[in-house]
Amino acid sequence: MVMDMTGPFKCDVLVIGAGPAGATAALEAARAGADVMIIDRKHVIGEPIACAGYIPAWITQHIKLNKKCIENKVAFMRTFMPDGSTDDTKTPGYIVDRAAFDRDLVRQGLKHGAKLYAGMTVLKLNENGAEVRYKNDTYKIESKITIGADGPKSVTGKYLGARVTEFIIAKQYEMMLKEPMDYSEVYFSDDYTGGYAWLFPKGKYANVGVGMIKSDALKMPARLEQFVEMLVEQNKIHHNSNIRTAEGLVPIGGPLQCTVKNNVMLAGDAAGLTHPITGAGILSAVISGKEAGTVAAEALAKAKGDKVNPDDLKRYEKEWQCFLSSDLELAYNRRKLLNGYYLKEHDKFKTLADAERKCWVVFKGYYHDDK
Ligand SMILES: Cc1cc2nc3c(=O)[nH]c(=O)nc-3n(C[C@H](O)[C@H](O)[C@H](O)COP(=O)(O)OP(=O)(O)OC[C@H]3O[C@@H](n4cnc5c(N)ncnc54)[C@H](O)[C@@H]3O)c2cc1C
Repeated sequence: MVMDMTGPFKCDVLVIGAGPAGATAALEAARAGADVMIIDRKHVIGEPIACAGYIPAWITQHIKLNKKCIENKVAFMRTFMPDGSTDDTKTPGYIVDRAAFDRDLVRQGLKHGAKLYAGMTVLKLNENGAEVRYKNDTYKIESKITIGADGPKSVTGKYLGARVTEFIIAKQYEMMLKEPMDYSEVYFSDDYTGGYAWLFPKGKYANVGVGMIKSDALKMPARLEQFVEMLVEQNKIHHNSNIRTAEGLVPIGGPLQCTVKNNVMLAGDAAGLTHPITGAGILSAVISGKEAGTVAAEALAKAKGDKVNPDDLKRYEKEWQCFLSSDLELAYNRRKLLNGYYLKEHDKFKTLADAERKCWVVFKGYYHDDK
């Protein structure tokens, strides 16, 4: 797309970030008739990828999932404990091509009239919108409402004084599988401090990765190499077959206290909505983005061309909480328990297997809350 850079840059809704949260927010707001600008510092939307691509099947209740983005269906998750025992749990879902997934969502918004500015970086926000850099120039964008969907290191969050501070650091390779698979694998070990290793199949390939709490980040590259070696020895993947490396931060501190202030809303990772135990964030990004876009469009309709009343945005927080709050709250309590085990802050669990069976989502104990 050729960008018209003559300005002036004015819009009803400025969406910062074209990941799942921003793309869904832009789609919902544009669908309801708002004048939407969606900007992303990435030159090619979705790339580089920093995601293993698993999405639970019920994502289809929230968005139209283009079948072309699906690389693998998975029926269950096989969990490997350090003592060699395994558990299989139904986790029907998809491994998607994340870049294609993001692009498809953005495309849906563009069809409804949203305008995309790729390769544009938000430098800072102000009460009228934002200041951005495109190539070597800076521009001002005026917006009635801003949706910050700019990921774990959100500049929007910084502007609001609401920032994500607890992270898992994750790194993965895309490697060739020996045999196709219809399930995913997750491995626990004391070596993967606070996190886990995974093998998520995607046709002939698989995303093979390790996530660990950020304070142990230096150990992570070696842990990933050991994990890959183990999978090669087990004849699951081909030696030396990595075609793509991805890495990134995963928020694990639970939702931020404040996700809406004045005329600004935060969605997805920027709002800390990633699951604090699994690190999964696509679904909650989509749900929160959808709610942010809907609330924005309704507030604009009420304002009838005038300034939006910030009170009309406040219900955004309740809307996403209604879908996500109880699960994320429970997960964050489990996260504290789990970190306490790894960091030897308590002796509630004798072994890692005990701790994971209590704290990880696929085990029965997880849902017996003891807050
Ligand atoms: C290695 C790894 C594996 C993962 N695997 C899974 C998984 O299997 N399943 C799952 O559900 N989740 C997974 N996650 C988490 C998931 O990727 C995120 O939760 C999800 O991407 C959040 O979507 P988002 O739209 O909120 O943010 P993002 O996808 O991070 O999108 C934010 C966008 O904002 C843009 N941006 C940031 N700052 C600026 C700026 N200043 N100006 C302009 N643009 C900006 C970025 O370029 C980016 O495109 C994984 C994460 C990692 C790191």
